[in-house]
Amino acid sequence: MTWHVLGAGSLGGLWATRLFRAGVPLRLILRSPQRLEDYHNAGGLALSETGKSCRYPVPAELPDTNTPIERLLVACKAYDAEAAVAEVASRLAAGAEILLLQNGLGSQQAIAERWPDSRCIFISSTEGAYRQDDFGIVHAGQGQNWLGDPLNLEPAPWLAELEQAGIPHAWTDDIMSKLWRKLAINCAINPLSVLHDCRNGALPAHREQLSSLCDELGDLLRACQQADAAFDLEDEVLKVIEATANNYSSMHQDVRNGRRTEVSFLIGQACRVAQQHGVVTPRLATLLEQLQAFLELRGLPAD
Ligand code: NAP
Repeated sequence: MTWHVLGAGSLGGLWATRLFRAGVPLRLILRSPQRLEDYHNAGGLALSETGKSCRYPVPAELPDTNTPIERLLVACKAYDAEAAVAEVASRLAAGAEILLLQNGLGSQQAIAERWPDSRCIFISSTEGAYRQDDFGIVHAGQGQNWLGDPLNLEPAPWLAELEQAGIPHAWTDDIMSKLWRKLAINCAINPLSVLHDCRNGALPAHREQLSSLCDELGDLLRACQQADAAFDLEDEVLKVIEATANNYSSMHQDVRNGRRTEVSFLIGQACRVAQQHGVVTPRLATLLEQLQAFLELRGLPAD
């Protein structure tokens, strides 16, 4: 079965190159004839790992190609994901699988609700990759890919292909817990790192703020039946801060590079769900308002 990878950016490129070199059949889907031409001019996707770079001529096509799609790996940003799937939706075969790599929450649910005949598999990735140039990806951080389907606990039958490709992975019966936990950690760290314009390692200077955010996030997780994701949240936030002390958060990097952030699917989603459940989260709400004002001031979308 052929994999179709929608979005040849950092994470899409990281997955596509590893699958391709393992001999797994796959095709990239690029957004426009111009991007396809750029891609052909680049000669394929380059992956840099441990200082060595190799280019792979992964076949690529446009969304309106008329072959069916049975397995679609969506590797766009959360704010682009639903519209990108819509562009290829007419090609989805009956019972197709849609694999969703997006950070945060909200985009996965929107896609699962809109294409209920497809099996949507959610992925929470802690791998790190960035684009050093167009179609040139650097594998920057080792990590794990947790995969799961909240509606069907049966593991996907193709995990051996990930093994073959050297893509770290584990199937989980509780992918929502992984996604919520990651979202909560992200809500505690990323907005503060943007507003205080600092590396993660400087955040313990704002310990009272971190603690009260973790308290509110814990209340929210418990209200969403995600008590496991709330367990020892503050401790884990502090551990993540320590382990990534020299790094700037992904949201900080987006802002610094003038790129749209995924705010709406991270702290924005946390505040929306808190409101739906009647959970009082004044510190989170204030942080979101401050972050949105900060983004608007820099001409960046606040959603
Ligand atoms: P990225 O580098 O910006 O790549 C996104 C790609 O999606 C771009 O190549 C973009 O195309 C493409 N795209 C957008 N709309 C499209 C459309 N309609 N049709 C085809 N392609 C389309 O983003 P990323 O860093 O890989 O992040 C993807 C998701 O993974 C995000 O939710 C992110 O939070 C999550 N994530 C990333 C990492 C990481 O280390 N990078 C780690 C964990 C999770 P153009 O090139 O034409 O703009």
